[in-house]
Amino acid sequence: MKSLKEEIQKLAVELNIQKIGFSKADDFEYLRASLIEQKEAGHTSGFEHKNLDERLQPRLSLEDAKTIISIGIAYPNKAESKPQKTAFRRGSFSRGSWGEDYHHVLQKKLKDLAEGIEQLAGSFNYKAMVDTGALIDVAVAARAGLGFIGKNGLLVSKEYGSWLFLGELVTNLEIEADQPVDYGCGSCTRCVDFCPTSALLGDGRLNAQRCLSYQTQTRGAMPEEFREKIKTVIYGCDICQVVCPYNKGINSHFHPEMEPDPELTNPELLPLLDLSNKAFMDKFGNMAGSWRGKNPIQRNAIYALGNANDRTALPKLHDIAENDVRDYIVDAAEWAIEKLENKHKIRRREKEEH
Ligand code: SF4
Ligand code: SF4
Repeated sequence: MKSLKEEIQKLAVELNIQKIGFSKADDFEYLRASLIEQKEAGHTSGFEHKNLDERLQPRLSLEDAKTIISIGIAYPNKAESKPQKTAFRRGSFSRGSWGEDYHHVLQKKLKDLAEGIEQLAGSFNYKAMVDTGALIDVAVAARAGLGFIGKNGLLVSKEYGSWLFLGELVTNLEIEADQPVDYGCGSCTRCVDFCPTSALLGDGRLNAQRCLSYQTQTRGAMPEEFREKIKTVIYGCDICQVVCPYNKGINSHFHPEMEPDPELTNPELLPLLDLSNKAFMDKFGNMAGSWRGKNPIQRNAIYALGNANDRTALPKLHDIAENDVRDYIVDAAEWAIEKLENKHKIRRREKEEH
């Protein structure tokens, strides 16, 4: 007869869950000093769960917690189709924002998993968490043997690389724990070397304030040093994943709802600037990248137009610079105008000199 653990592993396969692991619901106190240090150093984003004790102690989320069931859903990193060629330059959303918002997909998977376990084991106590829950997903997943925490701070697995969304069920079930994996980064430092802003500290920790992924999600003006570095990516950053050798040759297509629609993940930049809040949410509201609303995306789209050297945007940018009521949008437009006109002047001068 199969153990409960084996039954749950089978259930995970039936539910199209790529990775599942089990760990004791012991605390994560070993992370406390590091988390405090990171906060004091100003390396946090402010998006983290606020209560440090709750981040480290699963039993503050579920009083009788015994086992954490950690899951990983593999997502695609290469699109099957390209966006149509039109008159407009396009920007892009990072892969974590492809398809339906992964928070919804994971929450549904965890709900289905919990219901399935209920049928196997009877009623049990649990708390489901995805990303914005109290616990640190990568620490939980590493303890449950889903993979290791790379120097890019992400969970890296042998089978799916780091292209995995993580979630967990903190439960009061007694299940034998899995072992952490026996592989890791070794001497590789590619993510640290390729990060365009030197945001990675080299030990798996990140200065979130320097990370482009964070910077594309802020409200207000982006510090000037990052504006060119985003190039035409208007949400997120994938560089420290793309360069990881564990991700080589991996491209997972298990979940149709996570497949990218290129018209959404590579939107035309100029038309984006005309969208009302409602039109933006109607179009992009189902994507993870829309969670901060249209303003940071429109701001980034303006930087991207400057970076793409799209001079057809100049009339619109001038209009924004003169009439928009949002000061950081006006600032973005002025920055892009200066960039576009300067580049043009330099090119003209070079031509004249030859
Ligand atoms: S997401 Fe981009 S900016 Fe952030 S650490 Fe990775 S490579 Fe650096
Ligand atoms: S790029 Fe290299 S150092 Fe960075 S996470 Fe991958 S294996 Fe580790």
